[in-house]
Amino acid sequence: MILLDGAKVANERNLRLKEQIEKDIITYKRAPCLAIILVGENPASMSYVKGKGKACKLVGITHELYRLDESISEEELSTLIIRLNQEDHVDGILLQLPIPKHLNETMLIDLISKDKDADGFHVINQGYLYQKKPTVYPATPKGIMTLLKAYDINISGMDAVIIGRSNIVGFPIARLLMDAGATITVCHRQTKDLAAHTKRADLIIASAGRAELVTKDMVKSGAVVVDVGVNRVDGKLVGDVHFEGVRQVAAYLSPVPRGVGPMTINGLLENTYELYLKHVK
Ligand code: NAD
Repeated sequence: MILLDGAKVANERNLRLKEQIEKDIITYKRAPCLAIILVGENPASMSYVKGKGKACKLVGITHELYRLDESISEEELSTLIIRLNQEDHVDGILLQLPIPKHLNETMLIDLISKDKDADGFHVINQGYLYQKKPTVYPATPKGIMTLLKAYDINISGMDAVIIGRSNIVGFPIARLLMDAGATITVCHRQTKDLAAHTKRADLIIASAGRAELVTKDMVKSGAVVVDVGVNRVDGKLVGDVHFEGVRQVAAYLSPVPRGVGPMTINGLLENTYELYLKHVK
């Protein structure tokens, strides 16, 4: 089994990005800037935001963190987003999800300028993606595609099974894989017999958020398995794939942690950089 080492691939790409940004700062007289908005004190979100800030620093992207109280009103948060949309030095804006229930998530995401949408969640950018037009891709699907490419995995003609249909992972990765020539099946909570689908898959993308849902008996020998899931079990991070079992049958497998996670952060950094280029050029 070949390990899809997301940490290694992401580090290499981040280093190249850092070198490019150093040159661009001289040419364009400013660094790229990402504004990160964190509402409330969800421990997982706080840890993700910390990781994203650290990664920005590593490659030379300035980041501004807006930590807001759990009780912030929709109007106050909207005012902040509108102000950041207008700030010339801000290239990307990221609203860390989930946000408290009293705030309208879809409305707030779509309030972020589509030209500063570092996460690629804006309805217009998602529309471009589904129409196969160049746009900002959501960071996780972008990271997965980059990871598969880094290992020269030829997606064309593959039978790909995606577990999960969310707007941030399952649905967009299905679109990108289909565009790359795969025949796709999207499974979800209502799927009658998940194993019947996964067993015949050349490529499995596990993004259900269910610890060790995919076991050895569900995977065809020689399959490529990408584990997107992040689940906390007894204080430990566990993916959606039973790693020890599946490694015995898969040809390629991504670990958790150090698999899709670092690739997602790399996707976010590259998105911010691409938005920056559009602003400074
Ligand atoms: P979500 O809850 O929005 O969507 C989960 C999807 O999985 C749903 O479409 C649901 O129908 C499906 N599902 C749930 N249980 C299932 C089952 N038993 N069988 C088949 N389908 C099932 O979650 P999400 O935001 O798409 O994230 C999915 C997972 O990926 C989570 O664990 C999340 O933490 C992780 N994630 C990781 C990264 C990363 O960078 N590594 C990024 C984003 C999300």
